[in-house]
Amino acid sequence: MSRCVFLDRDGVLNKDNPNYTYTIENFEILPGVVEALQLLKKADYLLVVVTNQSGIDKGIYTVDQMKECHAYLQQVCNGLIDHFYFSPYHRSVNNSLLTKPGTLMFEKAIAKFDIDARQSWMVGDRGRDLIPARTLGIRTIQIGDEVEPEHRGEFIVRNLLEAATVMVR
Ligand SMILES: [Mg+2]
Repeated sequence: MSRCVFLDRDGVLNKDNPNYTYTIENFEILPGVVEALQLLKKADYLLVVVTNQSGIDKGIYTVDQMKECHAYLQQVCNGLIDHFYFSPYHRSVNNSLLTKPGTLMFEKAIAKFDIDARQSWMVGDRGRDLIPARTLGIRTIQIGDEVEPEHRGEFIVRNLLEAATVMVR
């Protein structure tokens, strides 16, 4: 079985933007992210992005635009990310289990890559990122202080590089 780091995207890999991020010009990769991904890969973690992209359902941007951003991220980090899962749905129209805090993106990854949940981590900046991980027995790391107290991560750090030092030690 493999171990995996599940990564939220906005606010973890790239700077969060209240008006959605869907162009390469606005896709600002956060400091230390590439180094963190390299450390994690070296420690033999699979790297899987799990991201809610409800702007697709809202008609703000397309799947192709999102994929361009992901291709750009892969180019910058030299293809270190093993897979991207996204939910295009918005809660107002669809209660898909794909959408975090639903667990389906995680479960798809676990099945596809034969992941051992108990040896894996989720890094996110919102309670909805950590809830599905906890449901599945995946350990949690919270970036920043925007997670509700009842959903707080097992570790609280400032950025992905700090999170990586927790996961590789
Ligand atoms: Mg986020």
